[in-house]
Amino acid sequence: MRVVFLAIAKEVRNMSFPNPDGRGIMTFFPTYEEFSNFSRYIAYIESQGAHKAGLAKIVPPKEWKPRGSYDNIDDLVIPTPLKQVVSGNAGVFSQYIKRKKAMTVREFRKMANSVKYRPPKHSDFEELERKYWSNVNKNCPIYGADVNGSLFEPVNFNIGNLGTILDTLEQDSGINIEGVNTPYLYFGSWKTTFPWHTEDMDLYSINYLHFGEPKSWYAVSSEHGKSLEHLAKDFFPESAKNCEAFLRHKMALISPSILEKHGIPFEKITQNAGEFMITFPYAYHAGFNHGFNCAEATNFASERWIEYGKQAVMCSCREDMVKFSMDVFVRKYQPDRYAQWLEGRDVVPIDHSQPTPEAEEDPECVWKYQKRKRRIRFLTNLQELPRRMAEVIQVSVMLNMLKY
Ligand SMILES: [Zn+2]
Repeated sequence: MRVVFLAIAKEVRNMSFPNPDGRGIMTFFPTYEEFSNFSRYIAYIESQGAHKAGLAKIVPPKEWKPRGSYDNIDDLVIPTPLKQVVSGNAGVFSQYIKRKKAMTVREFRKMANSVKYRPPKHSDFEELERKYWSNVNKNCPIYGADVNGSLFEPVNFNIGNLGTILDTLEQDSGINIEGVNTPYLYFGSWKTTFPWHTEDMDLYSINYLHFGEPKSWYAVSSEHGKSLEHLAKDFFPESAKNCEAFLRHKMALISPSILEKHGIPFEKITQNAGEFMITFPYAYHAGFNHGFNCAEATNFASERWIEYGKQAVMCSCREDMVKFSMDVFVRKYQPDRYAQWLEGRDVVPIDHSQPTPEAEEDPECVWKYQKRKRRIRFLTNLQELPRRMAEVIQVSVMLNMLKY
């Protein structure tokens, strides 16, 4: 019996759970071994349906440590802190940024914890969320965003070296785009915001919260991305007139109550220090920081992303937006479609529910996950045994009662 319980405990730790709110964002607890092959692990979580919500959480194994300590980063410079100026009302706001002069992490922390900028007292997330949306256009916070660099020490796994097919961009084309195929650091303070957006070229993103207060996320699945775009067009008609993909300007804030009112399905989840979030291709997301914190993020790709990259709608009004040719990806990963793609005849609708095929191509991986699925099914049946026995007893008691 003891053996069985140990087995259950291990399996539960490895299984994924929908988040505690009972919503569709899945949380995963990989082992050290699973975690060390990133591309394969992404394929695995997609085989479990993680991409369908547009956002997933990964809690790394306890043995994994990103770095020894964070005590020695006080002198790190944030070259361009951004003051976030928000205007609007009733759940629909637009944000513009004012560049501030450079400050160190020490100065930023002092500012973030000062009476003017620190988070308000609150007893739970719901209260803080209400305070966020009712004060979002007051007392502009400062975000230490887009800082080139990484706080990961070169261990088995780090954001600067994920080994996904996005590496093709640098290896085959020599293209390096800061924050896209290199890591960026983000120093947050209460109410600093990331407005509704998808990633550049509709890539995946990975975000690790190194330390500090939590970061809360809203996500719309790629399946419902167009609905969010239609709603945003209605709220920001001027921006929509001037640019085909104005949400890429990262200026639109739309509250959960407005999304609910207009029937846009979305999910929310809070990321704590030490946790990873993954956003999936063409999944809109937005959110805010609860207080002083530090996150690190970059983009990555899978084979499934290539079709998204080919069909991504680009900002048509700004020169400095991230854009790169899909040529190298189509040539390398879709050789049979390359000629017709060049002629503009390669038009296929995307099935957002399909997982990326990498795991299927890896026989060891397929075998392992099929075996695990069988074990989980067996253990689930085992866990249900007491309930089934109770049902049998109940029925026999009822039959006995009928006898008399
Ligand atoms: Zn634009």
